[in-house]
Amino acid sequence: MRQTGQMAKSKKNKSSDYSVADALRVPQGPVRVEDFAPGATPAYPGKGKDDAPDQMAEMAPELSDLQERLYAAGRDNEQAPRLLLMLQGLDTSGKGGVIRHAVGMVDPQGIDLTAFKVPTAEERAHHYLWRIRKALPGPGMIGIFDRSHYEDVLVVRVDELVAAEEIPKRFDEINAFEAELADQGITMIKCFLNVSRDEQKERLLERLADPEKYWKYNPGDVDVRNKWADYMDAYSDVLTRCNTEIAPWYVIPADKKWYRNWAVARLMVEHLRALDLGWPAADFDVESEIAQVNAS
Ligand code: AMP
Ligand code: MG
Repeated sequence: MRQTGQMAKSKKNKSSDYSVADALRVPQGPVRVEDFAPGATPAYPGKGKDDAPDQMAEMAPELSDLQERLYAAGRDNEQAPRLLLMLQGLDTSGKGGVIRHAVGMVDPQGIDLTAFKVPTAEERAHHYLWRIRKALPGPGMIGIFDRSHYEDVLVVRVDELVAAEEIPKRFDEINAFEAELADQGITMIKCFLNVSRDEQKERLLERLADPEKYWKYNPGDVDVRNKWADYMDAYSDVLTRCNTEIAPWYVIPADKKWYRNWAVARLMVEHLRALDLGWPAADFDVESEIAQVNAS
């Protein structure tokens, strides 16, 4: 299995010494979801669950600073970079948990969150990328997609909502679309939250055992669960066919919630770091402004 390798402890401790992006990026070529271990914790620098809150806390100031630089860059520059985090995964894989715990670490003013549901009548009247284009983040913003255009080659394929021969055409179309986004300065982080079938069962039963969690349960979830093998085929094709250099997939092991949340936060840090953002220079004379404020 991939993602089971452990680095020597001494090498894991400095934040600049490891790359979660390198550890979780899907290699080019044919892959299967089953190649990836849902319970693994690749590149995690601590010991485990107990120190996860400390690891998150340690990352928070840098993530916040990087996001603020991005936001500042976008204030009056249409060409400023943008980040787009796409979250895909089956029910209970933790898309909501990632949004609460990882995305929740940054200033909400810089976040543009969209959850994609069953298309409305209006959305169905348009090309499937229409609603996606409308939801793209503006300059300096971090867009979060809770589900995405990948539903149009996942649930749509499994439930046979379009003809089978349409799906490979959509893979090509999605690759071309994402290349266009990259050209517009959008850095994409595509995450597949990889929960195991056993862990999903536990989480669904937890929801059914607790009246405070009934709202999270949807009787349709068990129908999706019963099509598990079809979803694994569909996801394996997505990870193989839409895994490009400019928009690679990351498989996030999702059986351990603490690792899943940490890994996605860390991916945001690493991608923001790579943008190498400074602070916008003043477009006014600082000395003269100081003098004017002092005199006011
Ligand atoms: P949830 O994310 O749990 O609120 O559920 C949203 C539901 O919308 C899921 O069952 C998705 O499979 C479904 N969905 C999202 N996008 C599409 C789409 N393009 N076509 C059909 N169903 C979709
Ligand atoms: Mg759901």
